[in-house]
Amino acid sequence: MLRIAVQAKGRLNEQSMDLLKEAGVTVSQEKRKFLMRAADFPAEIIFLRDDDIPQTVAIGAADLGIVGYNEVAEKGLEVNLMQKLGFGGCRLSLAVPKTENYTGLEYFNGKRIATSYPEILRRFFADNDIDAEIHTITGSVEIAPTAGLADAIFDIVSSGGTLVSNGLVEVEKVVFSEAVLIGNPELPEEKMALARKLMSRFEAVRNGIGKKYLLMNIPVSSLQKAIDRLPAMRSPTVIPLANGDWCSVQTVVDENNLWNIIEDLKGLGAEGILVLSLDKIVM
Ligand code: ATP
Ligand code: MG
Repeated sequence: MLRIAVQAKGRLNEQSMDLLKEAGVTVSQEKRKFLMRAADFPAEIIFLRDDDIPQTVAIGAADLGIVGYNEVAEKGLEVNLMQKLGFGGCRLSLAVPKTENYTGLEYFNGKRIATSYPEILRRFFADNDIDAEIHTITGSVEIAPTAGLADAIFDIVSSGGTLVSNGLVEVEKVVFSEAVLIGNPELPEEKMALARKLMSRFEAVRNGIGKKYLLMNIPVSSLQKAIDRLPAMRSPTVIPLANGDWCSVQTVVDENNLWNIIEDLKGLGAEGILVLSLDKIVM
């Protein structure tokens, strides 16, 4: 049985639980406990603060964990980075008050920087020969410059709205992060086999995101033009219809290209166009 560590509450909890559910690892939504057995997969979920997930996996108290790459990089513990999960995207950036005249990294020499990610910042400054004072703060880092606690900050940025509302500008993007699946480096083979199964399910779920299944009837005379217009995993499925002048064409398309494709196909005489939602794509 696999033990999987997931953030108990916070930004990654919901999407982590959704991904697990889509992959066939479901736990009861009511009366959530600290440790819960999945109904349909040999796994149990342990709910933790995200800060504790890398260590829990490193020492083997959990076999796998779902956590932001930023936490993994900060802790610097020995865990396997097994898979990027495509959500929780953000970056760790240096930001300075917008009134400052920022000229480049040397700006930070002799400055005080507030952050909750001191190790990542220490490594970045060491690699770039910058000598700055790093102040570790666990609360709201973005208010440190206004409060006179620091000259600049190194913090998580996603939309940038928090920086703007605190009069700061992002000047260096240091690390890009998203949720990742991490694993204990010494998983026994039977757990590794379950982990691989889970990873291929996660991949199938991710492949289905933003995709639609498109079906339509096309006059045989326009078939080749329609096929040329369509993307397909191998090539579109073509099925003859009872009326020999027509056929049905079916394929998977990207949602953001959907309307252009539909309009072009209508131009080629397509009729009865159906767009179906799609759950998973197993390659
Ligand atoms: P915990 O109580 O588990 O310690 P937390 O307060 O440390 O939670 P959250 O704010 O829930 O953490 O964020 C969890 C993760 O979400 C971050 O470590 C990061 O990987 C990701 N994330 C994505 N966008 C943002 C953002 N705008 N601000 C903060 N974290 C973000
Ligand atoms: Mg945390």
